[in-house]
Amino acid sequence: MTTLQRLSFQATERLLFPSLVLPGLPHGIFTRHGGVSRAPFTSLNVSLHVGDNPEKVRTNRAIIKNALGSNTLVSCHQVHGDAILQVKASQAADLEADGYDALITDTPGILLMIQQADCQAVLLYDPAGPAIGAAHVGWRGSVAGILPKTVVAMRAAFGTRPQDLIAVVSPSLGPCCAEFRHFEEELPSAFHAFQGRPGYFDFWAISRDQLQTSGLSPRNIALASLCTRCSPEFYSYRRNHHTGRFASVIGLA
Ligand SMILES: [Zn+2]
Repeated sequence: MTTLQRLSFQATERLLFPSLVLPGLPHGIFTRHGGVSRAPFTSLNVSLHVGDNPEKVRTNRAIIKNALGSNTLVSCHQVHGDAILQVKASQAADLEADGYDALITDTPGILLMIQQADCQAVLLYDPAGPAIGAAHVGWRGSVAGILPKTVVAMRAAFGTRPQDLIAVVSPSLGPCCAEFRHFEEELPSAFHAFQGRPGYFDFWAISRDQLQTSGLSPRNIALASLCTRCSPEFYSYRRNHHTGRFASVIGLA
């Protein structure tokens, strides 16, 4: 269990992983507080695809950019797949790329944002590059291996050595609440060992296992161990189906 730091900036609050609190590496897991969206999206909703007013979402995204001191925010219209986008230096404006679930870059000044309501955001930092990655990991992403594939993509694009990578797993659905009634059909047998009690799965441990298998050092992997369904300061799809998405963000300054 990692003790996260809490930082307020104007009306926003974000959680910081100690392993990523480094010069030139803005990051944070933003709570739902400090934005302008109204119920049921109150208030820092960053998703354009949940029925919220797009102008309010754009304002919320601007609030996040301001909090992290950057002008460019790149996100994906996430589809629970395994496609990875390398964000190049030519990307000078905000972008929401369709059909991707992970983003990687070595370009300074670009923030990578993952949008969540129970799924994980896994943030990756290669200090040798430097380079960064951000992956949206729901259970379908875990099954598809989006995390191992993101590590491979960073190695191909930036020469990242997995043993150098620092990884953090954001607040997300915990083993207390991740019930899968149809796991025999939905989840591969390799995941079945990750049941705490029957039918409840520890996807935090599954991500840690996938990262270690990809070559990361156990001491470089931090889990927030905070369940979004149990924590009202985050959006949770399992708690409120009609709700917003919170932001996990990392960038190179
Ligand atoms: Zn829970």
